[in-house]
Amino acid sequence: LQAEAQAHAHEPAYTSDGTLIEIYANVLAEADAGDMVAKGADGWVIRTEILFGGSPHPPTVEEQEQAFLRLGRTLGNKRMIVRTWDIGGDKTVPFLPLDQEENPFLGVRGLRVFRNRPELLIDQVEAVCRAARFTPLSLMFPMVTTVEELDWALGLLDDVVGRVGRPDSLQVGIMVEVPAAALRARLMTQKLDFVSIGTNDLTQYTTAAERGNAALHVLADPLDPAVLRLIRLVADESRRETLVAICGDANTDPDVAALFVGLGVRELTPGAPAVPMVKARLRTSSLAELTTLADRALACTDAHEVRELIRSKFR
Ligand code: PEP
Ligand code: MG
Repeated sequence: LQAEAQAHAHEPAYTSDGTLIEIYANVLAEADAGDMVAKGADGWVIRTEILFGGSPHPPTVEEQEQAFLRLGRTLGNKRMIVRTWDIGGDKTVPFLPLDQEENPFLGVRGLRVFRNRPELLIDQVEAVCRAARFTPLSLMFPMVTTVEELDWALGLLDDVVGRVGRPDSLQVGIMVEVPAAALRARLMTQKLDFVSIGTNDLTQYTTAAERGNAALHVLADPLDPAVLRLIRLVADESRRETLVAICGDANTDPDVAALFVGLGVRELTPGAPAVPMVKARLRTSSLAELTTLADRALACTDAHEVRELIRSKFR
């Protein structure tokens, strides 16, 4: 099964009734990128706080631009979604110390860090705009909570574009990982080319159960029907006018990936090694049957029941 999936890894994944589902994967370090090409992802997601997080000083516009261009070449100029700095919460970088907080996951993290000091975000957006002239790039803002915050980020992008020009390849999106953003998905998606649902944080914030806390892992389950309802809501509210993607660890499991497609997601981001198997799963499923599966999952009592449902469907 693995070998069969690998043989078709570089082909696009269409459901058996003909809907294209794009399969992206994460790249965390430049050194890994070469080996990952063989997994056949249709595009890549870059977490910049990890890519540049080892640097003692903030990377310059030029350094970031060059890093994106090198990655683009290594990855065969497939589209890369550059997620802007998601610092704070569990993630720290040496060049941007943050204040101590009682509840860092509920604190100044992601986009919030830059409201009063936008310089590092401006530099990064400029690097993306410059590199996007030569390799297809998407810009993705993390931890958006309100429409006002989204408008602020888009205004910052407008300022940069006013200086350096808007490259044709550039697409703009946000992560939907705060329930407040999921609940306002109609207004948010209208302003964007895509949204990507981050199930790690969306689950943590929906269930009020910290994502890394082993004592709470039964609660912090991305298959909780409450989380699934938010995913379906975002897909419905996008009205197919804006692409709805998903990232986070959960969709590395092909059964879960298929369920998310049934909820309305059209682009997935499993870990790179799982790309061939996720593609293989989608090719043997119809969108119609996955939609029915997802409808049944939404009516389940809890995550355990959802897991049983999808396991029995695919065994
Ligand atoms: C997520 O929250 O699901 C996500 C993809 O972002 P991160 O895990 O980096 O917070
Ligand atoms: Mg997140």
